Parts: sequence; structure tokens; C-alpha cells
Amino acid sequence: MLIWDNDYSKLISYIKEQKEKPMLIADQNTYKACGKDIIKKLNKEKINYDLLILPKNAHADEKHLCKVLLNTNYNSLIVSIGSGSLTDIARYISFKLNLKFVSVPTAPSMDGYASSVAALTIEGLKTTVNAKTPEKIFANLKVLKDSPDILKKAGFGDLIGKFTALTDWKLAHILIDEPLNQEVYEEMYIACNTTLKNIRKEDFEKLLLEALIKSGELIAIVGNSRPASGAEHHIAHYLEFLGYDLFHGIKVGLATIYVIKLYEKLLNIDLDRIDKYLNYQIDVKLWKEEIKRYFPRIYKRVIEENLNKMKQFNDLSFRQSLLEKIKKNKDKIYHLAQELVNKKEEIFRAYQDINFSVNPKDWNIREEDIKTAIQYSLYIRDRFTILTLYQFLGILKNDKKLI
Ligand SMILES: [Zn+2]
Repeated sequence: MLIWDNDYSKLISYIKEQKEKPMLIADQNTYKACGKDIIKKLNKEKINYDLLILPKNAHADEKHLCKVLLNTNYNSLIVSIGSGSLTDIARYISFKLNLKFVSVPTAPSMDGYASSVAALTIEGLKTTVNAKTPEKIFANLKVLKDSPDILKKAGFGDLIGKFTALTDWKLAHILIDEPLNQEVYEEMYIACNTTLKNIRKEDFEKLLLEALIKSGELIAIVGNSRPASGAEHHIAHYLEFLGYDLFHGIKVGLATIYVIKLYEKLLNIDLDRIDKYLNYQIDVKLWKEEIKRYFPRIYKRVIEENLNKMKQFNDLSFRQSLLEKIKKNKDKIYHLAQELVNKKEEIFRAYQDINFSVNPKDWNIREEDIKTAIQYSLYIRDRFTILTLYQFLGILKNDKKLI
């Protein structure tokens, strides 16, 4: 799907082959970065096109979706020239109008280029909807290298989050028998590791974009986002819910550090004596009140989606069998946690190398909000992660020194 195209000649040939008028979408920044060069080439080749330039940093919301819709006139192909939001807008409109869609990424900033879903902001809330996978992705390495540092940091943060996502996946495989695709797991791991090892080297942006695109492709193979998203994404989504308008990958990258710490903690729990958690009970009434408090606006849905799980966690025979499973697999669990913790130093160094601060204050995030996110973000989505395990054991609620 990914084609390296350093003078956009391959993109131009592709558009030419279509024989129908394409609709090009850029924003003011991406038009400057490479949109205008593409236009020049189209003009030179006398290829007809429509062009829409959105304001810089346009969100994928009703206003901009509508703007694109209004400007799409019998086009058969949409070419999005941009990163996160712009690609989401284009892929959603292409899906709705059944148009061909190709993407021209302008920054290695997120893992969604190859995705088949789009993250839209509808009535102020992030919503994931079905969308179109691009037929091709035409990437120009020079444009990626010249992209703003903050976007590269975001892409790197999103990618580093795959280390914890993969660990959560394996944990769920061990403890609740969730299917694990070993090949996908390894492919994702290797792509992340290779990028990590090449930070600040010549090929960094190339490897970063390739790994981010690969993550989208691997999601398509598995049929869900397990290989790419775990507790770190849930924490990031909760911060989003609180209204932190930072790039997605920045929040993920930051949350990843906390999830690694949670796994580090697991190494200090005596899994041989895990039985001591057998009689822990969640006070469901209190739990409902907390959900109401921490999920204003959407608490009804959150309670509805999680209530059965809380009841299951209180069921003695369920508790017994899961605790047995933990005990039986303690070596595997320690090994898994240790493997992740072994990466910690390397990840910290890489963050330092690209000036990615791991201090929430530097991103204007309150420490309190991170703590709340760690405690409550697991209810955002029904997916077993280290947060689920800690909730089951009562550690999430009762351990004041969790982070
Ligand atoms: Zn992500």
C-alpha cells in the first residue's frame, strides 16, 4: 500500500491513469509543505482537478466534513494531502460517497494512515466510524523529514505505545484465553523495535512511517485494534474525554510510561500468594457513584457497558478460577512484565533524544488527571489490560502508591 515517491511522479501517474477529475484536499500548512508542488505538476501535465484548502489544524468535525461534502463535485477520487484529521475527513467522505481514496501523508504523526476507521468529533465527542482504507499511500521522505517536530513526537509516542499494547494482548491471552496472533505480534514488535533503535539516524522518519502504517495493516489482519492499542490508549482516550486537546500520539506516548510502571509494579507482587485477593469485593453502589462522577455526560452508557463485568469480578467462583490461572502462569506473567520493563531505559533515552518530555506538567496536564485516567479509563472499552487485572485485584482502588 505504501509507495515511496520522492518527486510525486508516481502519484501524478496514478491520478493520470484514473482519467477522471480528482478532488485534492489539503490544509494551509500541508498545501505549503507539498500540496503546491503537486498542483504544479498536475498543471504541467494538464490534468484537471478540484482543490479544497481547509484552515490549518482543521478538526475532523461536522463543519469540515460538510465543507468537503459541499465541494465534492462528481469526483471519483479523493487525494488527501495531510496527516491525522485531514486524512480522517477524506477517508470518511470517500467511504460515504463510495469514491476512491489515496493518501499523501505529510508527517509520521499517527498510526491511522492505513486504517479502515476514522476518528470524527461529533457534537464535541470523539467517535469512531467506518471509513475507507486508502488504495495507495504516496509518501515523500523529504516532506516527512521537514514536518514539525511535534508531529514526529506524536507519531513516535503512538508507536512506542505498541510495546504496552502488545504486552496487554499477551496478558489477556494468558489470563482470559484471548486469541493471540503470534505472527502479527512479532511483526508489530519488530517494527517498533527497529524504529526505536534508529532514532536520530538517517532512516528514522522512514522507519517510523512504515511502522505506523504497518500497525494499521496488522489491525486489518486481526480484525480489531489489539496489536496497536491497550491500556495506554485507554488512558489517552480518557485524557481526551477530559478535554486535553493535544495530539493523540503525545497522550499515548506519555501514558505508555505510566503503563510500563504498572507492569514494573507487577514484578513486586507475590503471585504465589495471590489468593489473598480472593475475598476482595467491589462495592457496586459506590462504583456507580464514581462512574457518575468521573464520566459526566456518558455515565449511563459506561455503567451499562461495565456492570456485568463488575458483578463477574465479585463472583467467588470466577475470582477463584482467575486467581488460579494467575498462580499457574506466574512465570509467564513475570517474564512478560520483565521483558517490557527491560525496555524502559531505552524508551526513556529515546524520549530524551527527541525532546519528548515525560513530565505531564510540560504538556499542561494535571498529575491528578493522569491518576484519574489510570483509575477509570478501563471502563472506556471492554478490553482486558493491566488496568483490568489491577481492578480485579482491588489494587487500582486501594493502592495509593500505584504511580
Ligand atoms: Zn493510536
